[in-house]
Amino acid sequence: MATIGSDAATMDKIVALCKRRGFIFQSSEIYGGLASTYDYGHYGVLLKTNVKAEWWRAVVQERDDMVALDAAILMHPKTWEASGHLEGFTDPLVQCLGTCKRRWREDHLREQAAAEGADSDAELRCPECGGELSEPRQFNLMFETHMGPVQDEGSRVFLRPETAQGIFVNFKNVLQFARKRPPFGIAQVGKAFRNEITPGNFIFRTREFEQMEIEFFVPPADAESWHERWMEERMAWYTELGIRPDHLRLREHGPDELSHYSSATSDIEYLFPMGWSELEGLANRGDFDLTQHARSSGEKLEYVDSASGERYVPHVIEPSAGADRAALAYMVDAYDEEEVEGRERVVLRLHPRLAPVKVAVLPLVNKDGQPERARAIYEDLRRRLPAEYDVGGSIGKRYRRQDEIGTPWGVTVDHQTLEDDTVTLRDRDSLEQTRLPIAALGDELSDRLLAPWRSPKLT
Ligand code: ATP
Repeated sequence: MATIGSDAATMDKIVALCKRRGFIFQSSEIYGGLASTYDYGHYGVLLKTNVKAEWWRAVVQERDDMVALDAAILMHPKTWEASGHLEGFTDPLVQCLGTCKRRWREDHLREQAAAEGADSDAELRCPECGGELSEPRQFNLMFETHMGPVQDEGSRVFLRPETAQGIFVNFKNVLQFARKRPPFGIAQVGKAFRNEITPGNFIFRTREFEQMEIEFFVPPADAESWHERWMEERMAWYTELGIRPDHLRLREHGPDELSHYSSATSDIEYLFPMGWSELEGLANRGDFDLTQHARSSGEKLEYVDSASGERYVPHVIEPSAGADRAALAYMVDAYDEEEVEGRERVVLRLHPRLAPVKVAVLPLVNKDGQPERARAIYEDLRRRLPAEYDVGGSIGKRYRRQDEIGTPWGVTVDHQTLEDDTVTLRDRDSLEQTRLPIAALGDELSDRLLAPWRSPKLT
């Protein structure tokens, strides 16, 4: 049994917990499941909604220089021509010519070989069976479909592989109505689709996922300093919400890794159970996108200062995060096991603001007027914050259930409650129990929710 601070989390344990507690299920499970596609159940929806809400709060609500957007998934096909996705959104696919015939991303195999100290021109072999590999073939990751009843070249549309392009094509609209001038940004959350060659690691890499993207438009001379600022801001977002700093790092892309649009990119990586992997990319996209769309659409996409008459095409800094990957990282980082009074306890030490349920109200016993009292407290509290009421099973079992879904506080109604209108408030991490009047509960919980928080794994 692991103790606080150590890394008890494995991907298998996270997958099992997600299924056991109704966070995430395999998609279309009754038909055998669709590969690498997942459905979010109740607690999963609440957790991911909280991740997105914290992102909105940090990047829009608590800033003066950002506006929100929600663009359509289907876009004019010319978008993808101009953005370079039709031509360049490809991964190098290699196939094993040995016994297993598996397909791999050549760039991933090269990265892995380099991490193990191999020469950059060393021959790659199949990691599964050691077989020879085919020559790489470029494979376009965009899903296509058709709009309208006729399936021909003219009706071809794509499911967006990133939300970013919806922002670029709306640059002019936003500039006109939002009364912003560079530096300012547009933020968007939404689904994106990629026909990934090697999906896997649960919700880390799927073919349908949610992105949280910012395109931040700046005067060209300020691009580098804004890139630096955004790296700091985004790193802080993860650590303030509980990720242990020694499990987070920034990794700068080498010149051969850069995307077609980028002059500099750094990834924020998290130490997942399968190793360091990307959580968020921060790219300096220069004026590539606005210039391309201006050329392709014939619209002027530039900023004109009405006072000085100065005009320029803003440069763009793009912090692009995945909501599913972030939710996974928060769960992995929060997962803990410990022994309490001789019994094993699995607990998600989530930041209270991310926890799906903030407080559980539990009658100690299912009689003597306690359930009715607890239910009334619950109905009052849930107007303020997500709460749950549970009478089923022993109190210990009910607490274990709440620990596993990461509920930070538990209110217990007992015989004393009926005498003096007080309850006990239990803390998920310290297991400390405080007795307080029912009338003080709501304010106490609201205060605790707003208070700065530090992972108890950081001793
Ligand atoms: P990777 O190298 O892992 O394929 P990427 O560099 O292609 O990722 P970006 O295009 O920078 O990813 O996308 C921004 C973010 O969107 C990623 O940091 C990640 O959080 C998320 N994301 C991208 N692809 C997927 C996917 N297939 N499944 C889940 N999230 C994804």
